[in-house]
Amino acid sequence: MQKFSGFALLRNALGGHQNWGHQWRNPAPKDEYDVVIVGAGGHGLGAAYYLAKEHGITNVAVIERGWLGGGNTGRNTTIIRSNYLFDESAALYEHSVKLWEGLSQDLNYNVMYSARGVLMLAHNHHDVASFKRHVHSNRLNGVDNEWLDADGVKAFCPPLNIKSMRYPILGGALQRRGGTARHDAVAWGFARGASDRGVDIIQNCEVTGIRRGANGAVEGVETSRGFIRAKKIGVSAAGHTSVVMSMAGVRMPLESYPLQALVSEPVKPAFDSVVMSNTIHAYISQSDKGEMVIGAGTDAYTSYSQRGGLHITTHTLDAICELVPQFRRLRMLRNWGGIVDVTPDRSPIIAKTPVPGLYVNCGWGTGGFKATPGSANVFAHTIAKDAPHPINAPFSLERFRDGFLIDEAAAAAVAH
Ligand SMILES: Cc1cc2nc3c(=O)[nH]c(=O)nc-3n(C[C@H](O)[C@H](O)[C@H](O)COP(=O)(O)OP(=O)(O)OC[C@H]3O[C@@H](n4cnc5c(N)ncnc54)[C@H](O)[C@@H]3O)c2cc1C
Repeated sequence: MQKFSGFALLRNALGGHQNWGHQWRNPAPKDEYDVVIVGAGGHGLGAAYYLAKEHGITNVAVIERGWLGGGNTGRNTTIIRSNYLFDESAALYEHSVKLWEGLSQDLNYNVMYSARGVLMLAHNHHDVASFKRHVHSNRLNGVDNEWLDADGVKAFCPPLNIKSMRYPILGGALQRRGGTARHDAVAWGFARGASDRGVDIIQNCEVTGIRRGANGAVEGVETSRGFIRAKKIGVSAAGHTSVVMSMAGVRMPLESYPLQALVSEPVKPAFDSVVMSNTIHAYISQSDKGEMVIGAGTDAYTSYSQRGGLHITTHTLDAICELVPQFRRLRMLRNWGGIVDVTPDRSPIIAKTPVPGLYVNCGWGTGGFKATPGSANVFAHTIAKDAPHPINAPFSLERFRDGFLIDEAAAAAVAH
C-alpha cells in the first residue's frame, strides 16, 4: 500500500502528481468468502477493516450495489458527538469518539476529524432541564459535556442571535470533543485499509437474495453478478436494511424515512463550531470548503426516494435565518436526501439475528455517521466471535421483544 507522508507528498509533487497508485483494488467476486458484508458505507467497510485488522479474517467481500460511500455515508452532515443520555449509548458513542481521535493515524489517511465543539441550544425551560440532565449523566459516564448560560453561548459562538427571536437562547450544552470529519475520506480510508489487508470490495453488484440451507443457516448471497457462497453475512445496508433482511425471512422493527441536508455557496471562515437546535429544528456548521452545511429532522412520511419535501428545507432555512440573521443573504448551492432506518426507541441494532450466520448493523436513523468506527469495530467483533462485544450487547434485536429499550428519542429529534 502506498503510504501517505510528507516525503511521499514531496516526491509526488516533483512528479507532477502523476504517480499516485489506486487506493483500493477492484477485483471480480470470488466463488466463496468466509464473510460477506452487504453495503459499502462507512459501517460495512469499517467492519471489513476491523475483521481483517483485529480478528485476522481476511477472506471477506464487501458487496455494494452502487459505488462505495454513495449511501448515507456520502450524504450526511458529519456531526460527531457522544453526549447521549443513557449509559449504553454513552459507552457506544464514546467508544467511537475515542477511535475518531486516532483514526487518521490508524488508517494513514486523513479523515479530517475536527473537534471544534458541538453546541446544543436550549430555548425553553424544558430544554434547560433536559440538557442539564444530559450534562450530569455524561459526566458520570466520563463523557465531556458542559453547560453554558446565554452569555457563554454568545461568547463561544458570536454569530448567534441569542435574544431577538421567537425562542430566545437560554443556554446550551457544549461537547468540546464533538465536531466533524470528512465523510468521503472515512469511506475511502476504511476501503483502502481493508483492501490492503485482502478484503475484496465489489461495487456495482446488488444483493438480490440470501440463500439459507436446510438447517436454516446462511449459505450465501444471490447477486446481480451471480451467487456468492458465504459462511457468514453481515448486513450494513442503512435505509434498505428491511429489504435486505426480508430476503432471509427476517422482519425488522424499522421504518425508512428520507432525511435531507443542504449547503450554501462557499464563504470565508465565519462559523467555527457546530450548532444544533432541536426546538427550532435546525443545525449548522461550516465545511472546510466554506459552505454552510445545514440540516434538520426527517421528513414525516416513510419513503425510499433519496429526496424529500421542499417545505422541510424552507422550514429549516427559516430557523437558520433566525439563529444567524447575517446568513439571510447566503444563496443555497445544492440539497439532497438519504434514506435513514429508524427503530422504535431511536437506538441502533448491532446484533446476531435468529438466522445462524446472519448479523445486522442498522437503525442508526439520523445519527450513525458519528458512530462509524465504534459501530464497525464492535460489529466486526460480533461477526468474528459469533457473540456481541459488551458495548453492543444491549443493542440487540430481542430488546424490542423483551422491553429493554434504550429510548434516545429525546436525543434524536435533530439527532446528528
Ligand atoms: C442528510 C443526512 C444527514 C445526516 N447527518 C448526520 C450527521 O450529521 N451525523 C451523524 O452521525 N449521522 C448523520 N446521518 C446519518 C448517517 O449518514 C448514517 O447513519 C450513516 O452514514 C450510515 O452509514 P452506513 O454505512 O450504515 O450506511 P450507508 O452509507 O447508507 O451504506 C449502506 C450501503 O448499502 C448499500 N446497499 C443497500 N442495499 C443493497 C443491496 N441490496 N445490495 C448491495 N448494497 C446495498 C447502499 O447502496 C449503501 O451504499 C445523516 C444522514 C443523512 C441522510
